[in-house]
Amino acid sequence: MSQHASPPASPYRLFDVALKRKAPLSAHLWRFTFEGPEVSQMATLAPDQRIKIFFPDPQGRPPAMALAPDWYARYKKQDVETRPPMRTYTIRALRAQDGEVDVDFVLHGETGPASTWATRARPGERLQIMAPNAAFEGDGGGYEWKPPQGLKRLLLIADETALPAVAGILEGLSALPAPPITEAFVEIPSVDDMIALATWPGLSIEWMPRNLDAPGARMLGAAQRAALPTTASKAAPILAEVNVDEAILWDVSAPDDAGFYGWVAGEAAAVLAIRRLLITERRVDKSSLNLMGYWREGRVLD
Ligand SMILES: Cc1cc2nc3c(=O)[nH]c(=O)nc-3n(C[C@H](O)[C@H](O)[C@H](O)COP(=O)(O)OP(=O)(O)OC[C@H]3O[C@@H](n4cnc5c(N)ncnc54)[C@H](O)[C@@H]3O)c2cc1C
Repeated sequence: MSQHASPPASPYRLFDVALKRKAPLSAHLWRFTFEGPEVSQMATLAPDQRIKIFFPDPQGRPPAMALAPDWYARYKKQDVETRPPMRTYTIRALRAQDGEVDVDFVLHGETGPASTWATRARPGERLQIMAPNAAFEGDGGGYEWKPPQGLKRLLLIADETALPAVAGILEGLSALPAPPITEAFVEIPSVDDMIALATWPGLSIEWMPRNLDAPGARMLGAAQRAALPTTASKAAPILAEVNVDEAILWDVSAPDDAGFYGWVAGEAAAVLAIRRLLITERRVDKSSLNLMGYWREGRVLD
């Protein structure tokens, strides 16, 4: 090997991007298109590909992170008053050849740095995105949509923060020769938040506007009435306790059984209640479920 061989590419890397445009998809969901020459080196591995976005610091200075192997530990040690806020988002679409990436932001008010930035942002503003590196050979992960081959039956329960992922999941499935029978339940802030989604004859989509009710109640209701596979009666497993105010709820699997797969993401306390309901009461096999807290009401979990 040459002494000057370059180090192997990392699975993830930082991308300097600028906002190209923003456009409303619905009352609360807006599409942000970012551009930058380096975006040609970005990759996305699944419709729920997660990325970290770094926003301007509290003084308004654009983020200037450098990627070191221990970047996360270093980041966590920095003063929250001066470090660039970091939040998790989903790649909705990547056009690497055009150097463009779309991220759909929920505008939930000026209560957190991401939503505040998104509400006020103008084209040209700069951010940094930690996303998969196309130069990495292999699967760098950062996604949980891992349906078994030949999946027959799918349950999706989501709120608006996971709607970008759901939209991508449905888009991908609709292109299959035989997409699974699918029930999709999407809780949205208001009736003005329904968006066009890919469809096929075996797909039912139920939009559940929450209006002024607490987030997650409609997602839980959906889990109560969703059609589920009948499972043999067996003792319900003991579920590990998760304090969703302290830790991120992330209970994921990659099942082999093509019979049924459930993908649930949204407000964490709601997803926790759905976890208990589906596994303990409705006796769904835990290994066929992905249960992910995407945000926690009243808390900041970065
Ligand atoms: C894997 C993953 C993928 C995600 N993908 C997306 C995505 O594509 N688009 C997207 O918009 N979000 C997405 N999210 C959710 C997003 O990371 C959170 O909503 C995040 O908290 C927003 O940061 P913020 O700075 O606006 O608010 P924070 O500073 O985190 O929170 C401030 C306050 O706002 C509240 N809050 C946070 N989010 C919401 C909300 N959606 N509605 C109402 N109140 C809220 C918090 O409870 C808190 O009280 C994703 C999360 C994960 C884990």
